[in-house]
Amino acid sequence: MHMCKFFCTFAPNFVNMKICFEQESKKKACEWMSQAQHIVILTHMAPDGDAMGSALALWHFLSTEHRIQNTDQISRSITVIVPNAFPAFFNWMPGADKILVYETQQKACEPLLAEADLFVCTDFNDPKRIGPVGEKMLQRDCPKILFDHHLNPVPFADVLFSFPEASSASEIVYSFLKNTDRSADRIQNTDLATCIYTGLMTDTGNFSFNSTNAELYDIIADLLRAGVQKDAIYDAVFNQYSTDRVRLTGYALYRKMRIYPEHHLALITLSADELDQYHYQPGDTEGLVNMPLQIAEVYYSVFMREERAKPGTPRSRIRLSFRSQGDRPVNVWAAEVFNGGGHMNASGGELFGSLQQAVRLFEQSFPKYIKK
Ligand code: 5GP
Ligand code: MN
Repeated sequence: MHMCKFFCTFAPNFVNMKICFEQESKKKACEWMSQAQHIVILTHMAPDGDAMGSALALWHFLSTEHRIQNTDQISRSITVIVPNAFPAFFNWMPGADKILVYETQQKACEPLLAEADLFVCTDFNDPKRIGPVGEKMLQRDCPKILFDHHLNPVPFADVLFSFPEASSASEIVYSFLKNTDRSADRIQNTDLATCIYTGLMTDTGNFSFNSTNAELYDIIADLLRAGVQKDAIYDAVFNQYSTDRVRLTGYALYRKMRIYPEHHLALITLSADELDQYHYQPGDTEGLVNMPLQIAEVYYSVFMREERAKPGTPRSRIRLSFRSQGDRPVNVWAAEVFNGGGHMNASGGELFGSLQQAVRLFEQSFPKYIKK
């Protein structure tokens, strides 16, 4: 396959947000998608609803294309690989049972990564966000397509569909699929539509942020016509928590939330021991960082979660989540102090060390990064 770099970002001067795919990039991506025999779809660590939704929607689309075109019975493989476990509350998603988890299914993943002739990446802007899988992917000299909505993507992809103004990677993927030839029937697929809807719903906090563009609601209308059961999806994602999860949220807000009133800032920390007490499962603290923003005077919220040191590593890992409201960027803070990044109002980072060290660094650094 011919290798070259194509870039596709927002067309300038758009008043309404509109995802506009540059023809050459689209053509190349479509060509690769229909010719490749071993496609690996990749998304970021600690997959969220948008990562799951955009990756699985691509999987449904490519699998259907395969069934339609495969008159010669060519053996073609299309696999979603995620770097580590996704939360159990996404188990119901159509196709989730076919996903391979690199951390626990490395043996099954290695040959697929080694023989892939196309990587389709979604919802991350830096191969570091997919851990060791990213290194494997970069070693491979085959085309890579990226659908993403984070700022400043690292230029690793041969075709890049980067729309930082988009609500979600799922929105970009859907717009792309809708734009491809011969796609009309295939995006009417209820499973595909369900995955896209899950991505839109979760990355916009059930349409409470990043969701002011009319185009998004045109997509939702399409998805409903394709048979999406929106209330059932809401219920599956937000109303199926364990008792421990809800109690952990209560504990975190009641006992562990610190407010810095003069700075309109809130901090929640949870140690590995505290998480153990509530039998923490991946995803159990999803959304917790947003809750302090419900307080009228709080414009910034940070959450720190301690992960115990892995065997052979000396220090525990602190995962940080940053949220803010309005014109108050947190991504520079996350990037410069906690080796992370993200969107203006939603970012993440990490620190290898103790929670106390992370809190100290947080307290030293916030005066520089937050607006009073
Ligand atoms: P969360 O707080 O939900 O983990 O992440 C919020 C946002 O920040 C997500 O859009 C995610 O892509 C971004 N993000 C989270 N962690 C990191 C990180 O370590 N590095 C970078 N560059 N972005 C991150
Ligand atoms: Mn996303």
